[in-house]
Amino acid sequence: MGRKDAKYRSNKCLNCNTPLDISERYCHYCGQLNSTKKVTISDFIEEFFSNFYAYDSKLRNSIISIFSKPGVLAKRYNAGQRATYANPFRLFLSVSILLFFTFSLTEDVNVNSNKEEQLLLEGAANDSINLSNAVSEKLYTDSIYNYEDLNKNFPKNDFKRIKYTITSFRNYHIKYPSKDAAQTLKELGFKNTTLNRFLANKAKTFKTNNIEEEIIDYFYQKLPFLIFLSVPFITVIFWVVFYQKNINYTEHLIFVYTFYTFIFICFILFNVIDVFSQSIENFIAFTCFLLIFPYYLYRSLRNFYQLSRWKTILKLVLLHPLFMITFLFVTFIAFIFGIIIK
Ligand SMILES: [Zn+2]
Repeated sequence: MGRKDAKYRSNKCLNCNTPLDISERYCHYCGQLNSTKKVTISDFIEEFFSNFYAYDSKLRNSIISIFSKPGVLAKRYNAGQRATYANPFRLFLSVSILLFFTFSLTEDVNVNSNKEEQLLLEGAANDSINLSNAVSEKLYTDSIYNYEDLNKNFPKNDFKRIKYTITSFRNYHIKYPSKDAAQTLKELGFKNTTLNRFLANKAKTFKTNNIEEEIIDYFYQKLPFLIFLSVPFITVIFWVVFYQKNINYTEHLIFVYTFYTFIFICFILFNVIDVFSQSIENFIAFTCFLLIFPYYLYRSLRNFYQLSRWKTILKLVLLHPLFMITFLFVTFIAFIFGIIIK
């Protein structure tokens, strides 16, 4: 005997007192079930789970749509088909929170392995110091080189030069923890410039001498946050590049949110895989960035803006540098406000 049975229907909503017709299953004003049946334990439990299920099915519809039909969710949502799907902004926000949580998962694993490395390094840094005859020989990241050594080995703006400068500063700091940036620069023969002081101080914050990997990891971890910040600006770009009279800013915004929801769900999967195997994670992430994400963006654009294949490709090519500029701009702003530099 269900609560929806006609015999329990009333001519007045029990929640808001709106007069109802016996034929109405739900109140047309507040949406409550038109039923006078006294609540039983089974009704109570059923109601509790049906609420979860309702949100669950919206979530499921959204995620299935995002993965199987790129760009279609945003198109349908804008066309008014909303009750079937979760609110795109709320979905994006939930996925972002989950993503930030999974980053802390991988961070714990990395910090532990870094600590062991640190112990090994402290020993190594004490042994090999000031290889003044290092010209054209292999340089070691666990050694300390002075300005002269680096000058002999590398041209001015070589990335390797910056790398060995940082590892030298770092190793020097491990050997003489009490010396400050100015003393470090003086004793290694560097000029006391703002940039050198910045590098000497930054060097201390690296956990290992594997500078490249730490920088890549660092930006990869900040990426979602930077994406989060850049969404309103990225949307302006879509709004300009895909200008169409019938699509307003908010509709472009919904497209951008659903696109990044896909990207963020992939990031979450990367982080989960990373806990089990870092090399598999690296391979999958690399493939996604190189092939799957660009292809997904192309499919999304085709489905959402409904332009021809060549027009879409042309605009995609146009989008790329604009993306980069926006992204650098947001990174720069975040940098200025000290958000991304610990
Ligand atoms: Zn009502």
